[in-house]
Amino acid sequence: MNNTFQMENKKVRVRFAPSPTGALHIGGVRTALYNYLFAKKYGGDFLLRIEDTDQTRYVAGAEEYIVESLKWCGIQVDEGVTVGGNFAPYRQSERKPIYRQYAEQLVASGNAYYAFDTPEELQAMRERLQAQKSDNQQYNALSRKQMTNSFTLSAAEIQARIESGENYVIRFNMPKDETLVVKDLIRGEVKFQTAKLDDKVLFKSDGMPTYHLANVVDDHLMQISHVIRGEEWLPSLPLHVLLYRSFAWQETMPQFAHLSLLLKPNGKGKLSKRDGDKLGFPVFPLEWKDPKTGEISSGYRESGYFADAFVNMLAFLGWNPGTEQEIFSLTELVEAFSLDKVGKSGSKFSPDKTKWFNQQYLRNKSNQELAQLLDNQLKAKGITAAPDYLSTVCGMLKERATFVSDLWDLGSFFFQKPTNYDAKTVKKRWKAQTPELMIAWRETLATIDEFSAANIKSALEGFVAEKGVGFGQLMMPFRICLVGSGSGPDLFEIAAMLGKQEVKERIDKAVENL
Ligand code: GLU
Repeated sequence: MNNTFQMENKKVRVRFAPSPTGALHIGGVRTALYNYLFAKKYGGDFLLRIEDTDQTRYVAGAEEYIVESLKWCGIQVDEGVTVGGNFAPYRQSERKPIYRQYAEQLVASGNAYYAFDTPEELQAMRERLQAQKSDNQQYNALSRKQMTNSFTLSAAEIQARIESGENYVIRFNMPKDETLVVKDLIRGEVKFQTAKLDDKVLFKSDGMPTYHLANVVDDHLMQISHVIRGEEWLPSLPLHVLLYRSFAWQETMPQFAHLSLLLKPNGKGKLSKRDGDKLGFPVFPLEWKDPKTGEISSGYRESGYFADAFVNMLAFLGWNPGTEQEIFSLTELVEAFSLDKVGKSGSKFSPDKTKWFNQQYLRNKSNQELAQLLDNQLKAKGITAAPDYLSTVCGMLKERATFVSDLWDLGSFFFQKPTNYDAKTVKKRWKAQTPELMIAWRETLATIDEFSAANIKSALEGFVAEKGVGFGQLMMPFRICLVGSGSGPDLFEIAAMLGKQEVKERIDKAVENL
């Protein structure tokens, strides 16, 4: 079967095109993921293009962070920075020589024009329009007539200014009053009035294109078939569509899909880093240290989340398969994904659901795999344990854990004697006669030949009957001795795993200390 999705005879080629302005927000990771799933579903290519034309917003380390985040998530890049490809370079700052000719092409066709206005003149324009209470205070078809540009200067004057080295920008000649209807794969038909839009700068005085020009030119040159990006770019869509028209590239114009926002857990507004700080969850995939302030923001990876659980959770923020199934591997997501199951409305981020996903993934891991992960944590504490022992511990604890680190919190007593005893349980369960009872019980334990859970249990039953005490009167103090608290997995299993000598020592230690 040919799994290559042909769209008007075009191979599916999508791109994730972040600007390296800081850590990648989980909304950005979701955009990358949906692009990846879409590409792989239709046998297409997933590109990573770095949009770094705005030098003022460049942040050192941000690109590496993006690359590492995608890698952690298992989102493999087919073409782009770090991997290369037929359309290299994939970093816009390295493509600088490409853009000017396209801007000039638009000037030549009358779709763009030179503008020489100084910052002061632009400010004066805004003030003038404000004073007039104009309902449109932008640089547009009306206001441009009062400014210093191709509309108000002669060709000779323009030539002379450019030759003298004067600063200028190239602006888009936004049609005065046109209704534009654009099809969005998620939103359906979206209408725009050009009268409300401004003559955006396409090419800056520093010789760099703006986002709009570079983005459209590169999507064209890189033969992008579908643009899947965040809703915040919807207002730019009419300009982009008009740029394709101005270049006469409509035939190969990509199809657009704008993803809805990720919302705060309460559904009110866009999910921000502040929400994460306030409610105690990361909004970034990996930990990030701001190179300027040194401020550290937490990441899902460092907080103990499994990459596949994180990806599964992200996939469900705005998409659902239309069935009850919630646990999907990346391969299964590729299989099940489709843009028509992506919702139009914002998706509430839920830190609890994120934990739930992690818990499911932890439970689904084999005891051996978990043992390996736990072993890494134990090694850092200087503790070693046999693989079989670790596997058994993991099997006993995993139903109650959300993170691998919980395994230690829930079961440190498997590896060391209790370092303290839960005061509340002790107060309630450790009575005046308990030490004497525990010592007698210790003697009984010493007589058990095969120290198995079943044998310890039957010895205990015989012991309480003989002593005429309640089962709980012995069980609870015994648990305190071994575990240090009143809860945990099956006590007979624990005792059998610890072994006769260790159990004896723990009883002695508790009797001595309590
Ligand atoms: N550079 C833009 C960003 O930072 C890309 C938007 C787009 O995908 O067109 O998100």
